[in-house]
Parts: sequence; C-alpha cells; structure tokens
Amino acid sequence: MRNGMKLLLSVTVLLSFTTTRTGAVEDHDIPRELMQGREKRQLSEQTLIVTTIMQSPFIMAKPTGGLEGFCIDLLQLFAERFKFRYEIKLVKDGFYGSKLENGRWTGMLGELMSEEADIAIAPLTITREREKAFGFTRPFMSVGISILMRKDFNSQGANLFHFLSPFSVDTWLGLFIAYVLTCFCLFLAARLSPNEWSEPEVENSRFSLLDSFWFGVGALTLQGVGPHPRAVSTRVIGTIWWLFVIIFLVAYITFFAASLSSEPQRPLIKSFNDLAKQREIEYGTVYGGSTFAFFKHSKIPAYAKIYETMNSRSDSVLVRTMAEGVQRVLGSNYALIGESSTIDLAVAEHCNLMRVSDFAAVRGYGIATRLGDPLRDNLTLAIMELEESGSLQQLKAKYWKSSCSDENAAEWSPLKLNQIGGTFLFLAIGLSLGLIIACIELAIKSRKKADQDKSCCNIFTEELNLRFKERSEANKKTNA
Ligand code: ASP
Repeated sequence: MRNGMKLLLSVTVLLSFTTTRTGAVEDHDIPRELMQGREKRQLSEQTLIVTTIMQSPFIMAKPTGGLEGFCIDLLQLFAERFKFRYEIKLVKDGFYGSKLENGRWTGMLGELMSEEADIAIAPLTITREREKAFGFTRPFMSVGISILMRKDFNSQGANLFHFLSPFSVDTWLGLFIAYVLTCFCLFLAARLSPNEWSEPEVENSRFSLLDSFWFGVGALTLQGVGPHPRAVSTRVIGTIWWLFVIIFLVAYITFFAASLSSEPQRPLIKSFNDLAKQREIEYGTVYGGSTFAFFKHSKIPAYAKIYETMNSRSDSVLVRTMAEGVQRVLGSNYALIGESSTIDLAVAEHCNLMRVSDFAAVRGYGIATRLGDPLRDNLTLAIMELEESGSLQQLKAKYWKSSCSDENAAEWSPLKLNQIGGTFLFLAIGLSLGLIIACIELAIKSRKKADQDKSCCNIFTEELNLRFKERSEANKKTNA
C-alpha cells in the first residue's frame, strides 16, 4: 500500500516535471488542433471551483447581484476557450494567502492546498515562497509596490514665496526690464514732446524720472496714478504699457490659480526611504498578503524598518482589504503601501490621492493552481494568446479609467518667457512709436518757430539742449 502510494507520488511528480519543463517546447511543436484536443480532454465539461477575493476592479459585487471585474472577465474568457464550467467562491478567511509558522497556508492558497478550490483567480502576486508550493501561470499583469497618499499630506507646507511661482525667473526678469525701459521711454518722450512740456525755459517737466517710475507702478497695480500724459507720444507709451500690464495680470492670476490646484512640485515623501524616516504619517498594508511578506523578508534597511514599524503597530496600521486602506488614506493621516494596480485605480477615482513614484519591487499577478496540476500550462497558454491578441490590454483599459479631469492630471509649470514673448515685442513697438511721435512733435514745433535767422534744424538742436542739458540754467531762470 505504502509502495503504491510512493509510485503514485513519483508518477505525479514526474508528470508535473515533464509538463512544466516541456511546456514551452510543446507550444511550438504540437499542432493547434491537437493542443485543443488535449485541452478538451482535460477541461471540457468539468466544473472548476474557483476561489477569489473582493478587490476592485478585479472582483467586485454587481449592483444587480453576482460578481464582475477584470478577473471575472478573464475567467469567462478561459471558460469559453476551454469549455469548462465554474463555480466562484469568495475566500472564507478573507486573506490572499501566506505561510504560517506551522507550514499551513491561509487564504485562497490555503483553500487550494486543502482542495476546497481548484484554482485561485485574483490579483495574487507570484512570489518565491508561493511558487515553491503552488503552480502559478505566467503573469497576466505586472505591478510594482508603491505608496498611496493624500496630495495635501504630501505637500511641502506653506511656501512663503509661492506667489512668485506663476512666472519663471526669466519672465520676472523680462517684466522688470520692460518696466524700467518703459518708464525711461516715458521720461524721454515727456522731455522731447512740446505738447507734454511746452515751456522748458520757465517750468519743470511734469514727468521727472521718479514720476515716470511712479506712473509705471500705478499701472502695475491698476491704480492709474498721475501725472497723466497729455501728448500723443506719452499717451501712446502709457496705453501700450497698460495693455501689456493687463495681459501680464491675467496670465499671473490664471497661472497662480493653476499652481494652487496643481500637484505639489516637490513632494515631502518621494520614496520608501522618506516614508521610513518620518513619524508624522502612519502607514500600513494589507495583512496576510505578499506585500507584507515582502517587507518582512527584505534585507534592505529602509524596508526592514518599515516592516518593524508596521509590525509593532499591526493592530492599528494593517488593514484587511485594499478598499479599507483607501478609505483610511482618504479620511486620516495615513499612507497605504500596496500594489500599483490598486493604487492607480484609487488615484484615478479620487483626484486628491497620489501615488509616490518610487517602487519597492516589481512583481506579477498569476493564477494559482495546485502544484503539478496540468491546468496551469493550459491557462498559461491562454494568457499568452490573450496577450498577443491584445485582449488583455483591452480588458485593462476597460477597468482602469480615470475620472479625474485632464487639467488636474496635466503637469503644471510656470509661465515661460517664450510663451509670452509676443507681448514684449508689442511693448517694444509701442515704446519706439511713442519716442518717434515725440520727436515728430518736437520737429513740428521747431518748424513753426523757424524763421530767416534760424533754421528748423538749429531750433530742434537748441530745444534738445534746453530739454536735456540746460535744465539747471532754465531752473535758475525760473527761480530768479
Ligand atoms: N496581491 C497581494 C497578494 O497576493 C496583496 C498584497 O499584499 O498587496 O498577497
């Protein structure tokens, strides 16, 4: 009897070895019809007991009753392909499956081991420890371990100089240079234009350099301070400056609003190292899953520290399901460590959540069968087929849709000089025009004053001297 058992065992092991090792070769060598014949012999008309776990969007309860989700669609595709029937049972203890000290397995894997189920279809991570005890198919999805956080917990507090963020440094510099140049041009035009400064012999110009700068600031703050320009030349410069300022103010307000609502540019927690170092934010993961086991077995100091922290407060920081974890992140000062598939879905559904870009490990989800079960190879082949035909991609696209608007998703950046360069050109043209008009105004006056003794050019030069060089003498005259 004992010998018989041994023989049976060795035949099973041999069979499983052959199936496992030669699977890839068989795919190429055996004609498809034969393969299908073999599959049908093994699977058709069988009723498979499928164990699974509630995990959005893989397995979810339908509002009308029953189950739906990525894994349910996958199972249906397999059932159609291999013509088997199935019965889905939710895992009794609610765990994915981990090995206990006594060698027994919990969760879905425990149910496979005790033959309560034939396969486990769920977001079940393939790990070395599990692979040794169960037959896993080729991964149907790759995922990385990351951190889910609330965006507002991950911003760098109040930044005193955030008000400068709407414009890049060169835009601010350009604005400053534009301001200085405009005020200087206004000062020049006010000196040149006889309509602005009609009697340089007896009075001071209304626009001293300081007044010009004051006028420029007034426009920047929409206050319209005096003295107000009177000549066409100074009015052209004033108007162009006002228009330029309005464009800049609108851009500033728009970009400032966008910068406030955008994702923080420099997050506080950028990696698992940052998470391990801090104490303000509590963190945890799903109990009895591969993520918890990953940190438990890790030799990397930061990961080992994360495990210690989670383990020492296991009652308060470990959650039973990812859905429970997501609710905790939304409602408290908590960060959830989990797999990117679930984290990305939570980020897509809740726009105030974010995934930290660091990944602790990249793994895959596979379908688990009992060790040596030929079902594994058939399912692996089917997964490869679905992958190659693009059906897996389509299925992913069906369940991972973002409800956040594109504006939020788009990365915000400050306004650059080249985006608003046209306004500077517009200002430069206006300033040149103002100065040209001021010269024309002076030329007209010179022409009017010209007589037989003095030519128009002489008077123009004299006026220029009077307006720029001999101001102190003119003042003296006035004072006298
Ligand atoms: N997918 C995981 C597992 O198979 C769950 C987790 O720990 O995040 O255990």
